Amino acid sequence: MPMPDFKTYDDSNIFAMILRGEIPNKTVYEDDHALAFHDINPQAPVHVLVIPKGKYISMVDFTAKASDAEIAGFFRAVGKTAEILDLPDPGYRLLVNHGPHSHQEVPHLHVHIFGGKHVGPLLMRGWEGKIKMPNMD
Ligand code: 5GP
Repeated sequence: MPMPDFKTYDDSNIFAMILRGEIPNKTVYEDDHALAFHDINPQAPVHVLVIPKGKYISMVDFTAKASDAEIAGFFRAVGKTAEILDLPDPGYRLLVNHGPHSHQEVPHLHVHIFGGKHVGPLLMRGWEGKIKMPNMD
């Protein structure tokens, strides 16, 4: 899959298609500012994505361009989704990728919510060079 350029919003990205209703999703929560749905390839027993409804590529793009109402609404939706999923007790992890070094695949801002088991250490070990990492430079 070619890497997105992360500079110009791409209306053909998969989450834009989900927002337009062109691709189905398993919705957990939806309001005026955000949509939360199950990841198609879950990496934990609970793996849900929360996306803003506006056209934002990344957290930098979102926080630079979105209105205060959109930003507040989006982060409230993340918290609300975690509550709906019954995750605050015993806990969960939020993760946001940005750009090639993080392996961001879909160029529409999304917060991953992981839970339902112990989700392990914060980052995969290997950056020191002991494990061969894919060359994404
Ligand atoms: P990223 O690597 O960009 O942070 O994460 C993209 C996520 O989107 C991946 O976890 C991937 O499984 C998920 N994803 C990709 N295509 C689809 C899709 O069509 N539907 C859903 N629900 N998730 C998708």
